[in-house]
Amino acid sequence: MERTQAFRYPIRYADTLPGTADVVVIGGGILGAATAFYAGRAGLRCAVVEKRSRLCSLTTPASTGAFRAQFDNPEEMRLVQESIAAFERFDEHVGLVGLDIRLTHQGYLWLTTTAEGAARQRRLVELQQSWGLTDVELLTGEEARRRFPYLAPEVVSARYRPGDGWLDVKRVTNGFAAGSGATFCLETAATGFALAGGAVKGVRTTWGTIACDQVVVAAGPFSGVVAGWAGLHLDLALRIRQKLVIPQVPEVPPAAPMTIDEDTGAHWRPALQGAYLLYTQHDTLAGPPLDDVPTSAGFYFGLLDPASPHSVARIAPFWRSVWERNDDLWCLMGGQYTYTLDHRPLLGPTEIPGLHLNTGYSGHGIMGSAGGSRLAVDAMLGRVAPEANPFRVHRPMESRTFDVL
Ligand SMILES: Cc1cc2nc3c(=O)[nH]c(=O)nc-3n(C[C@H](O)[C@H](O)[C@H](O)COP(=O)(O)OP(=O)(O)OC[C@H]3O[C@@H](n4cnc5c(N)ncnc54)[C@H](O)[C@@H]3O)c2cc1C
Repeated sequence: MERTQAFRYPIRYADTLPGTADVVVIGGGILGAATAFYAGRAGLRCAVVEKRSRLCSLTTPASTGAFRAQFDNPEEMRLVQESIAAFERFDEHVGLVGLDIRLTHQGYLWLTTTAEGAARQRRLVELQQSWGLTDVELLTGEEARRRFPYLAPEVVSARYRPGDGWLDVKRVTNGFAAGSGATFCLETAATGFALAGGAVKGVRTTWGTIACDQVVVAAGPFSGVVAGWAGLHLDLALRIRQKLVIPQVPEVPPAAPMTIDEDTGAHWRPALQGAYLLYTQHDTLAGPPLDDVPTSAGFYFGLLDPASPHSVARIAPFWRSVWERNDDLWCLMGGQYTYTLDHRPLLGPTEIPGLHLNTGYSGHGIMGSAGGSRLAVDAMLGRVAPEANPFRVHRPMESRTFDVL
């Protein structure tokens, strides 16, 4: 177990396993840390168990750290808007004045090269405006090129919300952890539950049992395995997603927004002195949860080679010169999306008394972290009625096809 205090963040790391807690959180990614924060704010004594030797070391750091209010349904839009409001005054929110989470509002710019795509964008923006999201702009190709001169002449329409953006996921996770007052037990794997009369009464770990009446599973891709120990089956599909990192690319405009080819799903945003580039491969097979996620060079070729149907050069031609000069270092990071059937998170109580979930964000767990974890804790405490929680665990779900992101 970790024995030293982190320097920058006043996180309470345990020397010995606590014997009891009001609530135990399983998982020390962004969602485990955020759950601990909202549980602490509600006055609960919380312990977090993380099997790895560092917080924020599995899916969360593989992410792009981006957030957007531009959703296709009002429930997720509101959940993320709550998170964005928390991120915008994060230091005050978690009580760590001066903590800089490198919040960047450079917007999300969605682009299409087809007339059907333009009509779809128009319909979606009208819907978003009817839900109160009034700051999304619909641009013609020409207007978009005037604002973002790096765009290709083929772009015919764009939707853009300047308030969307990205942040530093390590800093947010550490900030939630430090602000929570919870006890963090590193190198401590949960291995099972102590159950009595069908209810959870404790969490078994590699160092002993923590007695508790409430447990929140925030174990990322391992959440299904963990819930299974209590006899609860979760319909989750784990799919590998990769991030291409090119740390230095002089052509990337540092003030560019998240730039998304809505026709293919390829997207990138400025990062370091270059960019993070992504693409949601819809044919990736679901697999078991992984502690080490493999990456594939084919991901790089698919995004950079102008001959690829989802090349980023399609809508931002400067990427063609990056490919041609072949002079920039690159590397890949991998993580798993934890998909639910309807691609929305599972938040709050389960049918097992004392067992709660904060998982299944289907690729949106950074942007959903504050709003979703607050809601999961409120639902655990009975402050939100099940019917008022659109993300309740036992809800009717319609199977959803793949999203662009
Ligand atoms: C390539 C990629 C890009 C992404 N980009 C974005 C983005 O831009 N915006 C966005 O909102 N989302 C994005 N996501 C999704 C986002 O990263 C996830 O939704 C989020 O990180 C999930 O957080 P988590 O805390 O649940 O998971 P994790 O970070 O995986 O944390 C779970 C933790 O639980 C621990 N654990 C598991 N089992 C046990 C056990 N038995 N005992 C103790 N500990 C255990 C694990 O070791 C791990 O540390 C992206 C994901 C990927 C892969």
